Amino acid sequence: MKRFDHFNATTVEEAVTLLNESEGPSYVIAGGSDLMGCLKDNLWMESPERIVNLKTIPGLKELHVDDDGLHIGAMVTLTEIAESDTVKEQWPGLAEAARRTGSPLLRNMGTIAGNICQENRCWYYRYPDKIGGRIDCVRKGGKRCLAVPGDHRFHSIFGQVNKCIAVNPSDTAPALVALEATIKTTKRDIPVDEFFSAEMGAQSTVLDRDEIVTEIIIPTPKAGSFSAFEKIAYRKSIDFAIVNCAVSITIKDDKVTAARICLNGVHNNPRRCETSEELLIGKKLTDAVAQEAGELAVAEAKPLFQNIYKVQMAKTIVTDTLLECNN
Ligand SMILES: Cc1cc2nc3c(=O)[nH]c(=O)nc-3n(C[C@H](O)[C@H](O)[C@H](O)COP(=O)(O)OP(=O)(O)OC[C@H]3O[C@@H](n4cnc5c(N)ncnc54)[C@H](O)[C@@H]3O)c2cc1C
Ligand code: SF4
Repeated sequence: MKRFDHFNATTVEEAVTLLNESEGPSYVIAGGSDLMGCLKDNLWMESPERIVNLKTIPGLKELHVDDDGLHIGAMVTLTEIAESDTVKEQWPGLAEAARRTGSPLLRNMGTIAGNICQENRCWYYRYPDKIGGRIDCVRKGGKRCLAVPGDHRFHSIFGQVNKCIAVNPSDTAPALVALEATIKTTKRDIPVDEFFSAEMGAQSTVLDRDEIVTEIIIPTPKAGSFSAFEKIAYRKSIDFAIVNCAVSITIKDDKVTAARICLNGVHNNPRRCETSEELLIGKKLTDAVAQEAGELAVAEAKPLFQNIYKVQMAKTIVTDTLLECNN
């Protein structure tokens, strides 16, 4: 690991100043479960000079319900979300996404903000410097993508962004998309649909380097609303999703009146299934309708040779997650 300066910020304002004052790259650290791996493996072409600790800032760990919905402080852990009776009752899709992330230890350390800001898990991207030299692929500012001609069995089935086919690995991201969250930062309020971006080099979001997520707000569900989350991974514990899916639907008089469906692990950014959502409106959520929604979700898939199997998984997980909202 390269040397860096570590600062314990005591306020959000101080954290922003510390990021801005750094001459070289600087990062905030929350639980550290993603960032420490990146540092240890010396992943980036430019090593950070400064790490600013958010754990020492009071007030970022609150989870409460207000008039406009659920407020989750950036430093609330995944365990706290998964175990909150309020979240389980009113936003079950999010509670389940948090519960299915990593292992108990990771959920105790990992925060909601860290989960949605984590970097991709492409194995070429994550290749450690100490084992034969870091791989500087196009996502890190290098010249080529190794996954397209190489091993891409877990990569995107919906094409590339800037020649990169790595997928967004977050489990809570699709739940926040389905639940129409707003991400509050030190600079602005970002609707979740505009938060994720693979256009910004190594990072997975639109955040500026001196911008910090402070809170996530999720609207109160309307009467007749249900949400659900499903995940397919090789192992039941400690494994990233091959494909995951979150759904939020509202049903009135037996008919769907609103729907948001989000797949993740299938593209560089979490992917809304808008044609599937449109199909559902005004219909009864039967097995046949859920199946058709699953088919529409993958209608534009462009899988590569080794990941064709993911198309079937994505189709099935959309159908299954939708039908869970019927139970
Ligand atoms: C073995 C293993 C298994 C894992 N399994 C899963 C899994 O199944 N599903 C899954 O979704 N993830 C998984 N993860 C990824 C990750 O560790 C977790 O998602 C965790 O939630 C990250 O949160 P953290 O607080 O530890 O983030 P950190 O490591 O502290 O930060 C991650 C990134 O977010 C940035 N960041 C953190 N907080 C903020 C903030 N408030 N504002 C702006 N930027 C911020 C950091 O600068 C860094 O770039 C796994 C990781 C490991 C090591
Ligand atoms: S898929 Fe993206 S992260 Fe992976 S090797 Fe290609 S450019 Fe790099």
